Amino acid sequence: MKAALFTDLRTMVPAEIPDPAPPGPGEVLLRIEEVGICGSDLHYYRTGRIGSQVMSFPTTLGHECAATVEAVGEGVARLRPGDRVAVDPAISCGTCDQCRCGRLHTCRHVKFMAVAGQLPGCLCEFAVMPEACCFLISDTWTWGQGVMMEPFAICLYAAKLAGDLTGQAVGILGAGPIGLCLLTALNARGPSHVVVTEPLTWRRRHAQNLGAEWTGDPRDPEWEAEVAEQHPEGLDVVFECAGEPSAYDDALRLLRPGGRLFVLGIPEHDRMSFDADLLRRKELSIHMVRRQNDCTHEALELAEARGIDFEPMITHRFPLDQAQKAFDTVADYRDGVVKALITIGR
Ligand SMILES: [Zn+2]
Ligand SMILES: [Zn+2]
Repeated sequence: MKAALFTDLRTMVPAEIPDPAPPGPGEVLLRIEEVGICGSDLHYYRTGRIGSQVMSFPTTLGHECAATVEAVGEGVARLRPGDRVAVDPAISCGTCDQCRCGRLHTCRHVKFMAVAGQLPGCLCEFAVMPEACCFLISDTWTWGQGVMMEPFAICLYAAKLAGDLTGQAVGILGAGPIGLCLLTALNARGPSHVVVTEPLTWRRRHAQNLGAEWTGDPRDPEWEAEVAEQHPEGLDVVFECAGEPSAYDDALRLLRPGGRLFVLGIPEHDRMSFDADLLRRKELSIHMVRRQNDCTHEALELAEARGIDFEPMITHRFPLDQAQKAFDTVADYRDGVVKALITIGR
């Protein structure tokens, strides 16, 4: 099958690789239609690693996909060949202590797409996944809308962790795909006052279109005074979606005493640092958010019920043999990019 092979830092090469083995019991063979480029793919692309997770070359990236069911293994009852699905890229064991208490995302034996020693990436024509990871999408949906269920599920999980934010003052730092999906998830869950900081003008415009109460450039010396004017007591909750150390400082200053910071961004460095004085005097809480904890189906139902359209966020599509160009476009923030997809199917 055709694939985009990640052969070295910042190098993506079109290649032929072996087809996956036929689907086993409870598994389905997927024909991959579209794949999203995620911030975590970009960390691997630029540095070859995310913390302790180190890539060995060559390998395949990609974990956000929508697909057509091509064949089904023994005992598969819910899906049939031809079905269109969104895919949860995580397989959890279902029996460890974490799975038993509902923390499938921190399963001791989790296997995730495009993680070394776990599952191959989906930047190729076919993949085999358990039926349980595949969720039917509407015939009226674009493949891209199906792909977006992966990042949307992460943001829905984060929004659920924060609880009922009705009437609360909320900050989102970073309006990339995760920041924008989070804004979408918050809007769908109830009215709140959301301020968004983002250095890139076009991404701020996307946040405005999604109904952000205020947007601003965190490099502008005036921005904090503007937020303080609207929320003089500080923000109740801040979601960090930038992976930037400066955003942690911004968050700590913005939050009211007793406020909560949720960290979704993946920092490029192995250590995070926070102003201990502010953190302590305000008695702030920091909550790390890890992936989506089985929220894909709920994300899909919410998107369907609310008629949420993710297409405006998808600014670019590239064919599989232009994966290098696709990754460079996103890595270098070229050409007004927000979410870029790689189209594999016809
Ligand atoms: Zn992702
Ligand atoms: Zn488990």
